[in-house]
Amino acid sequence: MASTTLINPADETAFETVEHTTVEGVDDAVARAVVAQRAWAALAPAARAHALREFARVVDGAIEELAALEVVNSGHPITQARWEAGHVRDVLNYYAAAPERMIGKQIPVAGGIDVTFLEPLGVVGVIVPWNCPMTIASWGFAPALAAGNAVVLKPAEWTPLTAMRLGELGLEAGLPEGLFQVLPGRGSVVGERFVTHEQVRKIVFTGSTEVGKQVMAGCSAQVKAVTLELGGKSANVVFADSDLEKAAATAPYAVFENAGQDCCARSRILVERSVLDRFLELLEPAVKGVRVGAPGDPETEMGPLVSKTHFDSVSSYVPDDSQVAFRGSAPSGAGFWFAPTVLLPQSRTDRVVVDEIFGPVVSVLPFDDEADAVALANDSVYGLSGSIWTRDIGRAIRVARGVESGNLSVNSHSSVRYSTPFGGFKQSGLGRELGPDAASAFTETKNVFISTE
Ligand code: NAD
Repeated sequence: MASTTLINPADETAFETVEHTTVEGVDDAVARAVVAQRAWAALAPAARAHALREFARVVDGAIEELAALEVVNSGHPITQARWEAGHVRDVLNYYAAAPERMIGKQIPVAGGIDVTFLEPLGVVGVIVPWNCPMTIASWGFAPALAAGNAVVLKPAEWTPLTAMRLGELGLEAGLPEGLFQVLPGRGSVVGERFVTHEQVRKIVFTGSTEVGKQVMAGCSAQVKAVTLELGGKSANVVFADSDLEKAAATAPYAVFENAGQDCCARSRILVERSVLDRFLELLEPAVKGVRVGAPGDPETEMGPLVSKTHFDSVSSYVPDDSQVAFRGSAPSGAGFWFAPTVLLPQSRTDRVVVDEIFGPVVSVLPFDDEADAVALANDSVYGLSGSIWTRDIGRAIRVARGVESGNLSVNSHSSVRYSTPFGGFKQSGLGRELGPDAASAFTETKNVFISTE
């Protein structure tokens, strides 16, 4: 049986081997999930709500354990990893309210009563990337379970441990066998089988735009529902009238958090030309102040990149002749360390400006006026996130409406909130996760007319 040997990104030591699920293993799991889903959907809504609250309670008791796994498996700083585990608990608690609120409509019609039901889909396949393994898993499995579905979940090859532990914690919390199963393995085996299996009725895919397009094409063969959360190249737009000190002090954390391995990373900083020099003066100490170091240290703000393969990919964007404005620091020696890097590209079409690098590399580009800022922000195949810095409220709203992106923040770099919708425009994705409507995205609307004649 194939397997992956996991490598600690901070010191390059191999620490565990995880066996891959085979196609037959997926088929067995889906068969179990079909049975479990029928029983789950037949439970009283309050019983399903209670089960999810229990799951949240058990996750709460395992926060340190989950965080420690993410530190060693993904190189996430411990404070961030604790936040991520707490976020999974919060997502479960939020969607624990959904089973009792899957409310249909009563529609006025002649000759009877017309009502709609939000029916669960059946078995949902969730495919997760390596950058935020447990949080992204929870955005799929929590609302899907809440809406009455069973879930089969495939973590990324490099980072399966927290998702696998969450699968066990679900059972410890009393979720029925087969309802939530975590199946580590290859995308081309386990992920593809989710797509081709007729009993898997929806795919939630988070990952690269390239693989997302393949998944969408595969789903079309069975007209299978699909949610896609894909890449990004988000803009942090800084106008001359903004609080420049605050914009510069916070900009590094909007792109270097999780070592830039964040789909929402504001990896293009667009600055009004008249304040470009001043902004760079303020940005330099902020970048140099980012604490890059051992993931287990509570003072650490940025850890290593996830793997050697990814380190090589990020490094290819910063060859020796790059237009580097300044860099932060990073440990030397073993580990996939990459110092925070600020580039000043000469062209708006340079590959560092266009491609999602997915590492701690940011490009700073000047713009001339509001229209130019919006045009430059939109000059991307992606449209996931972004920030706008200005003291002019009218401009803030005009630019927020003008930027083709799913998640924007004004005078802040808000991260994802479980209570608000999240997703991308253009090639950043399809559909929305999180927020008040996410559970209904895991249902079909059924219309029933009852004659009074
Ligand atoms: P990836 O596309 O290589 O892999 C994502 C997942 O898909 C993995 O579990 C992988 O095993 C699986 N997979 C690979 N080939 C498959 C196939 N043929 N069929 C089905 N599944 C397959 O992405 P990655 O490198 O793990 O993650 C990084 C990417 O994810 C970046 O582009 C990033 O922007 C994106 N991302 C997006 C969001 C979002 O919410 N929009 C969040 C995090 C990451």
